[in-house]
This record gives sequence, structure tokens and C-alpha cells, in this order.
Amino acid sequence: MKKPEHVIIFDTTLRDGEQCPGASMGLHEKLQVARQLEKMGVDIIEAGFPAASPGDFEAVKRVATEIKTCRIAGLARCVKKDIEACAEALKPAGDRARIHVFLATSAIHRKFKLKKAKAEIIRQAVEGVRYAKEFCRDVQFSPEDASRTEPEFLAEVVRAAIAAGATTINIPDTVGFTVPHEFRKLLTYLHEHVPELHDVVVHVHCHNDLGLAVANSLAAIECGARGVECTINGIGERAGNCSLEELVMALKVRADHYGIQTRVRTPELFPASRLVSQLTGMMVQRNKAIVGANAFAHESGIHQDGMLKHRETYEIMRPEDVGVVTGTDLVLGKHSGRAGFADHLTRMGVKINPEQLQVVYDAFIALADKKKMVYDDDIVELLREHLSDVPKVYAIRRLQVTAGNQTIPTATIQIEKAGEVSQDSATGSGPVEAALTAIDRITGIKGDLKSFAIQAVTHGEDALGEVSVQVRFGKEIVAAKGSDIDIVMASAKAYVSALNRHLFLKGGD
Ligand code: MN
Repeated sequence: MKKPEHVIIFDTTLRDGEQCPGASMGLHEKLQVARQLEKMGVDIIEAGFPAASPGDFEAVKRVATEIKTCRIAGLARCVKKDIEACAEALKPAGDRARIHVFLATSAIHRKFKLKKAKAEIIRQAVEGVRYAKEFCRDVQFSPEDASRTEPEFLAEVVRAAIAAGATTINIPDTVGFTVPHEFRKLLTYLHEHVPELHDVVVHVHCHNDLGLAVANSLAAIECGARGVECTINGIGERAGNCSLEELVMALKVRADHYGIQTRVRTPELFPASRLVSQLTGMMVQRNKAIVGANAFAHESGIHQDGMLKHRETYEIMRPEDVGVVTGTDLVLGKHSGRAGFADHLTRMGVKINPEQLQVVYDAFIALADKKKMVYDDDIVELLREHLSDVPKVYAIRRLQVTAGNQTIPTATIQIEKAGEVSQDSATGSGPVEAALTAIDRITGIKGDLKSFAIQAVTHGEDALGEVSVQVRFGKEIVAAKGSDIDIVMASAKAYVSALNRHLFLKGGD
């Protein structure tokens, strides 16, 4: 097999990323992310774990059907039923399908999780790869918790998996335990002791528990790895995975050092980040590298002065390289016509049908009535609110609150469900609590607010307030957002949206 001349980007936002609490997405949301990943030019999309649930199976199948240029991977344990489900879900991808089988190899996993001896692990890995190979030419094997596995045994497992037909070997740092120097040593050791590795592609899958996922992935590239498994915004189990945008830009900005690139179209990075943050409700921290709101903000006078004299004094990459377009936001107002609005959406890369256009345009006019200038980010909010795939089982009709330091905060709310409007009132320690309690009373469903954050979508005193919530319903945590000029209304919208999402995710798709 010929070694790739670029670093393969294996995106697992839809699998590992979606596994993090509160980030679950519905089918149509997953498809939106997959389309953006395709547009961005990632090599492989890991679309899910088909044996995990019927919803996961369906999502992998739909992604495999709709995406035409990327390879599509599905995850499976080394057991027949997982591999069969995976092969079935991946069928529509044809020869772009990849079955990704995994089995834990570290002593701690062998002893406590699998209760299996080394010989049994090798046998099961070989059987898994061979069985997957009956369905698919492209088989990837991952020895889970590789970085905590005895290197000699890891080499043995990897050798056996390649002999059984694996074409990609992934070395995961499943628990985010390794450090760059040690990971480099491990990969060098493997390449020395398993010469067969030169005939397959080596991937790494690093977690960010110590904040080292990107650093460890870069170290691995220096030692022969040609595939990096990563997610948009670095979302994923616990502290998350290697952040795609950081890895891609590190290779691009430091081409002088690495001498090897990815094929990602970097101006699509910021739109992808925004999309994933919106669909999952997982906010991006302001100081996050590459895609954070402050990533290109120069605050100190000395820095600003330097920037004005020569950009490169303080800027190692340009915002437009990653799709952050500043100062060119076309500002729309209520006098912008429908055609101009539609044209603007097209330039933002939004594709919607005429019916949807009407809905969003009406909402835009209503918003433009309340606030002087409407920015791109406001429009993205409108799109999210009005074109969601989540059915609006409950919708807020009216909200009235009284608050202040001399009154008992009280909220009265009207909620519509299936054409019927119900009304109730409640008090609380503040107007938001009062509103949410009134909603609980009407719906009869008790949500437990786990997190609540508010930020301004754009600038100015009349900016939309965007509220992000995580709400626990029973065992499940659902994330959602709501936006409005009025922050209590935005809070109520976010809460009701979480409730609707909960009903939607619970009911399958
Ligand atoms: Mn993982």
C-alpha cells in the first residue's frame, strides 16, 4: 500500500464527539454536520456505532447514503453482531466504507473489564478483523487503551491484526494519559518492532484529559502516523478529543516544521465550529485556539499598535484563513427586501427551500423591527430557531414577568401544545426561575437545570441574548439554546427547546 502524502483527517465528531454528555444530536443534525465535514474536505467521517442503538444505525446509514466524497467509517466491537450491523449500515457507501473494530489491550482493561488473558485478546482481535474483512476491504483496528498497554504485547496484537487483514492501525490514547515524549517513543518502538506497520496506515486517537491531545497527535505525526482522529471544537468523552481545527492549523502554520499538510479547506473551520456548537449546545470557550471569540482579538495597546504597523508582528495566521470574517458582515435592516435577504443567505452558504425562506424572512423582519441592525450571527440564530428538525411539541405563546428588589418575582406563561393553550403562574427567587417553574407546572415534566449561561450574540445594547442550558430529564442531559431580545424570554425558550429535544431524542428520530 502506498503511504498517503498528506495527513488523513478522520473526523469522529459524530461518534466520539456525540458521546459526550449533552451533545447528542438527532438524525438531521448529524447529516448537517456530515455535509459540512464533506464541504471542509475531511478524508474520513466516523458516523457512529451502528450496534449501539437503532438511532445510531440509521444515522450511519443516512450519512453513508448522502455523503459522496469522504470515506465513511462505523465503529464495532470485535463481536459478530456489531460487525454485521456496521457492514449493513455502511452498505450505501460502497467501496468508501470502512469498518473500525476495536478491542481493549491494556492490563487494567484485560483484568477488570474484559477478564481475558493476552492470548484470548489476540484471538478475538484476529477474529474480529477477519470477520470485518469478509464484508469490507477497508478495515481499521484499534487496540483500546494502547498507550497504557505493555509495548511488547501491543506490538504482538498489532502484528496479528495486520496479518488478519487490517489496513489501518489506530493507536488510541483512550484515557488521555500519555505525554508527547512518551507517545513518540511508543510509536517509534512499534515501527521498529512491527515492520509490517510500514505497509498500513497508522492513525492516532488522543484524548484531552491533560490538555495534550493535539500535542500528542503532532508528536505521533513526527513518528510516522499519517491519520489523526479528531473532532470539531475538540468535543468528546470527558475532556474531549484532539481538536480538528487546532491540529489542522498547527500543521498549516508550522508547515516549515512538519512539512506535511491535511487536505482540509481551512476557511470552513469556523463555520464548522459554529455549526457544531449550535447543534450540540456545547459552547466554545472565548479563549479557545483558532475558533474562540477572542482568538483574533488584540487587546493591549502595544499589540494593537504593532498590528496597525504590520499585522504579522502579533498575528501568526489571518482570521480569514480559518473562516473568521471580521468587519465584512453585511448588516441588514428592516428595509432589506426578500430578494436581498435570500441572496445574503446564499452567500452565507445556507441552502433552504422557498417555504423555509418565507418562515425565516418573516422572523427576520420581526427581529429587524425590534433591533436596528441584524448581523450574520443573528441570522444563524434565526435559522436555528425556526428550521430545527426537532418538532415544537411545546411552544411559548406569552410570557409576562414581574421582578425587582421590592417584588416577589412572578411569571405567568401561556404554552401551546397541539393547538391547545394552557396558562399558569409561579414565583421564584428570580424571574428566570419563576418562568421555568411555571413551564414545569404546565407541562407536568420536571426538568432539572444543570447549567445556564447567557451571552450576547452580537454587539450593541439591543443585541440578542443567547441562553444555553443543560437540563436533566431523568437520566438524560439535554443541551439547548434560546435567543431573544428579552433574556427571560430567551431563557424560557431555551428551556422549552431542551424539553422538545428531550421528547424528540427519546422518541428516536
Ligand atoms: Mn475516544
